[in-house]
Amino acid sequence: MSTYLPESLKNRIVFADFARCCYCLTTEANSGIPMTYDHILPVSKNGETSYDNLCLACRTCNEFKGDVTEAIDPLLGETTALFNPRTQKWSEHFAWSLDGTRVEGLTAVGRATVARLRMNNPVIIVARGRWVISGWHPPKD
Ligand SMILES: [Zn+2]
Repeated sequence: MSTYLPESLKNRIVFADFARCCYCLTTEANSGIPMTYDHILPVSKNGETSYDNLCLACRTCNEFKGDVTEAIDPLLGETTALFNPRTQKWSEHFAWSLDGTRVEGLTAVGRATVARLRMNNPVIIVARGRWVISGWHPPKD
């Protein structure tokens, strides 16, 4: 879904989100693909086009998130809400693997979001491995 966003709103979101994906923390510099603006509550579910309902997301996270707001926690097998970058803290739900290539879910919300958004897909794992070799450190929030 493409929605018009005023430049001032885009700039506020980019600044607040440190110009990186709110889900997997990938930057444009690392992905080589322009960021998208994700409606946390999708437009199809009456989500507003406002700062509180928008966040930066890499194309991969945004496309796999689609218009869902819940997913299954692969550990417990229960449906849970996806991570909300505006109301929840990244480090309370996710952590980096020791080698810095994988995002690990710490909670049901984190695990369900990692799984639904394919945050550890093979392509990004390889890319993160290259970033680590080049001295990149996984960001924290
Ligand atoms: Zn992402």
